[in-house]
Amino acid sequence: MKTMKAVVFKGKDQIAVEEVPRPAPRAGEAVIGITTTTICGTDVHIVRGEYPVKPGLVLGHEPVGVIEELGAGLEETYSVGQRVIVGAITPCGQCFYCLNGTHSQCGGALGGWRFGNTINGAWAEYLLVPDARANLAPIPPELSDEDVLLCPDIFSTGLSGAESGQIKVGDSVAVFAQGPIGLCATLGAKLKGASLIIGIDAVNQRLEVARRLGANVTLNTQDGDPVPEIKRLTEGRGVDVAIEALGRQETFENALRAIRPGGTLSSLGVYSGKLTAPYEAFYAGLGDQKIVTTLCPGGKERMRRLMAMIANRRVDLTSLVSHHFALDDIQEAFDLFSHQRDGVLKVALYPDAARAVRPTAAVAVGAMDEQC
Ligand SMILES: [Zn+2]
Ligand SMILES: [Zn+2]
Repeated sequence: MKTMKAVVFKGKDQIAVEEVPRPAPRAGEAVIGITTTTICGTDVHIVRGEYPVKPGLVLGHEPVGVIEELGAGLEETYSVGQRVIVGAITPCGQCFYCLNGTHSQCGGALGGWRFGNTINGAWAEYLLVPDARANLAPIPPELSDEDVLLCPDIFSTGLSGAESGQIKVGDSVAVFAQGPIGLCATLGAKLKGASLIIGIDAVNQRLEVARRLGANVTLNTQDGDPVPEIKRLTEGRGVDVAIEALGRQETFENALRAIRPGGTLSSLGVYSGKLTAPYEAFYAGLGDQKIVTTLCPGGKERMRRLMAMIANRRVDLTSLVSHHFALDDIQEAFDLFSHQRDGVLKVALYPDAARAVRPTAAVAVGAMDEQC
C-alpha cells in the first residue's frame, strides 16, 4: 500500500505528522498532489475541541495542487499535471440543496464542507477530491500558488459577507474584526462599491492592512465602544450593512447595534454557545433589519471567478500570506497562528519542505504590534 505524509487530528489539542494510506480515486473523483495549503481559524476551533471532528482525520481545507490521478470519466475535462485549486466547500451540484442554489449546504446542514471535517483534508501530500467535475478549478498559468492560496476559503468567505449583505453603490459598511476573513470582507465592501467603509479591530497592525484594502476609517476597540463613533459617522443612523467576521457575542451585538433601521447584519463568524440579541439593538423585533449568514461559497465556478479577479489585478492578496512553513513544521506554524504571534495573518504550508522560505521578514505586514 502506498502511503503519504499527513497532519492527523489526534484529539483535543493534539495534532501529529504521520504516514497514512495514500488515497486512490474512484469514478468521478481525483487525487491532487498538494503543493501549498494553509491554516484557518476554523482549524484552531477544531484542534481546541470547540468544533467536533473524528480523531484520526487529516485536517485542512484550503488546497492548492497538481492533478496526480484521475478517476474514470474525467479524462476529457482534466489532465494529470494540471495545476488546480479546490474550494474549501465541495458541492456535488446534484442534490436538493445544490439545485436550490445553497451549494454550501450540499446534502444537508454544512454538508458542503467535507475536507478536514467529514473526509480527509489538505494538510497532506495528497488529497482525494470528491465530485471532481464540479470542484477542480484550473489555476491561470501566470498565477503562483501564493497568489491563489486564499481563494478556497478566506477570500471566498470574506467576499461573501459583502455579497450576502447586498451592499449597494454608496452604502456605508462596518466590518467587525480585521482578521484574514474580515480583511477580505473589507476588500469585498470596496469591490461592491461602498462609500464609507469602517474597519474595526483591537490590533493596530490589522487596522493598517484594513486601510490598505479599502477601509477609509478604522476604529480600535481598545479606544472604547466603536458604535457611537459609527453612528456619528452616519448622521446618527447607523450603517446600511455591518459584517461580523469573528463569531463572538460582543461583535455580533455591536454589529446589530451598528446597523440602521432597515439595515443588514451579514454574519460570517463561527459561533458557539448561545447568541442573544439585545432589545434596543433589535428595535424590539420591529426594526425591519435583516440578519443573513453565509458559509464559504465553493465549487469550480466560484474559484474561477475569484482567480479571475486576481489574474486581472483587481485584487492582490499575497500580502496576507505573512509566514511560510514546511508541513513538517506544522506544530510551530500552528502555535504561531493560533496565538497570533509575530503579526501573523496567514501561513503558507508546503509538503515539499524545500519550498518553505524562512525567515519571513520580506513579506511581513508592518511592524509587530505589542498586543499580538
Ligand atoms: Zn476555513
Ligand atoms: Zn449537493
